[in-house]
Amino acid sequence: MKNYGVYINGEWFKSASEKTFATKNPANGEALASFPEGTQEDVARAVEAAEKAFPKWKRFPPPKRGEILLKAAAMMRARKEELGEMVTKEMGKVIAEGKGDVQEAIDFLEYISGEGRRLLGETTPSELPSKLCLTLKQPIGVVGCITPWNFPMAVPCWKLGAALISGNTIVYKPATLTPLCAARLVEILEQAGLPAGVLNLVTGPADVVGEAIVQHPAIRAVSFTGSVAAGRDIYSKASRMLKRVGLELGGKNPQIIMDDANLELAIEGVLFGAFGTAGQRCTATSRLIVHENIFAEAMGKLLSRTRSLKVGDPLDPRVDVGPVASGEQERKILQYIRIGIEEGAKLLCGGKKLTGGQYDRGFFIEPTIFEAEHGMRITKEEIFGPVLSVIKIRNYEEAVMVANDVEYGLSSSIYTANVNTAFRAMEDLEAGVTYINAPTIGAEVHLPFGGVKNTGNGAREAGTEAIHEFTEIKSVFIDFSEKLQKAQIIE
Ligand code: NAP
Repeated sequence: MKNYGVYINGEWFKSASEKTFATKNPANGEALASFPEGTQEDVARAVEAAEKAFPKWKRFPPPKRGEILLKAAAMMRARKEELGEMVTKEMGKVIAEGKGDVQEAIDFLEYISGEGRRLLGETTPSELPSKLCLTLKQPIGVVGCITPWNFPMAVPCWKLGAALISGNTIVYKPATLTPLCAARLVEILEQAGLPAGVLNLVTGPADVVGEAIVQHPAIRAVSFTGSVAAGRDIYSKASRMLKRVGLELGGKNPQIIMDDANLELAIEGVLFGAFGTAGQRCTATSRLIVHENIFAEAMGKLLSRTRSLKVGDPLDPRVDVGPVASGEQERKILQYIRIGIEEGAKLLCGGKKLTGGQYDRGFFIEPTIFEAEHGMRITKEEIFGPVLSVIKIRNYEEAVMVANDVEYGLSSSIYTANVNTAFRAMEDLEAGVTYINAPTIGAEVHLPFGGVKNTGNGAREAGTEAIHEFTEIKSVFIDFSEKLQKAQIIE
């Protein structure tokens, strides 16, 4: 098993701490690699390296930055099988989705590399003669990136790619469950030509490494993806220091099925949306809102399809649902299943930890479906596991009310054959992302991604919005009149 250090100024160093932790395969408990529990001093050293590297990286032409990202994307493409397998081994999503995670990272790096030739500003006439006005997009400086474990390649690439193309230098803390994917990404970016000090990696616990990133005065912006609770904590601390903060937080995503929908398609959609990545996607479908006219038929189809899902070794391509990511995840999900039963929701299928044989070595939970009443905790709180609550509604207005009546607003979906209903839903659903006749998952990297309400603070990743989180706008006035001209002052 390989022992990693912290990656600072282009080298792997021993951490200031003696403590280490192992990253493990949640399907069988196999230890994959060992990493240091980084310290505040490690973060301080990483910041120092990033500060030192910043002036040069800021002047490095953006198209050349793009070439490095493009090379990294090509290297990842060539190693997609191996990297996909690593994602699957480290966090447990099934192999097709592990490779999908890598593909999303490749897609984004390819997309954002082009932004190097498109960091467009504005030019505009002046109110005075012989004067020109324009804007420049400039990097912020040293930025902190803190990422979750559920998309251990794609989410970091969204952040690192956008921060790097914009000319920032980085201190990066990955989730403690997935440091190996992070280390591999750093190695690839280094091999693709990223100069030393531009990207620094410190692994370790949230309350030490995460806290130190948030509190370090030289880190001017923090980009965070994770839970609402952590986002709130980070926002309150970082905003007190007037830092730029980008937050991408949790979801409680609804899929509505109207009575005119293509039911087969809608059921296929909800299976993928609810049980893909064992329900551990920020965009996972966790509420299915079904019109009463087709409720019985929809439930019949949904239950029979769900019962046939194969749960097991995520490296086996015939398996539909892998393990959940950790023992802690497993406990939290089973706790929510108990809450659902206690609050009177009808358990229609699943509900148990799987045991026996290979299941005993990992964290496997049956795909679970409740028939629930809107307002129950299981219909309001993010569970982040393979648990779906189905809610019966009478009409479109009730469907929208139920869909919107949660603190979150990340993704949403409606299945309907009525074009007017579809267009109304585009406007009515309170979410950063809405799908029509498609599940709540499956964002594409060239569109902005993010949520409303408690899912974030208005920041968007990916697409043309990605660089806004990592750039400052400077306005420039060029006076070529060779005399003092005074704007606004009429003499
Ligand atoms: P998490 O517990 O909030 O942790 C996310 C990251 O933040 C980890 O690196 C964690 O470190 C660190 N962290 C936690 N608390 C912190 C704090 N107070 N200060 C600084 N750093 C802190 O979330 P998770 O369990 O990894 O991921 C699941 C959550 O992420 C879900 O709520 C999901 O919806 C959300 N998510 C959102 C999006 C989106 O784009 N909206 C995408 C993916 C996931 P440790 O690992 O060391 O604890």
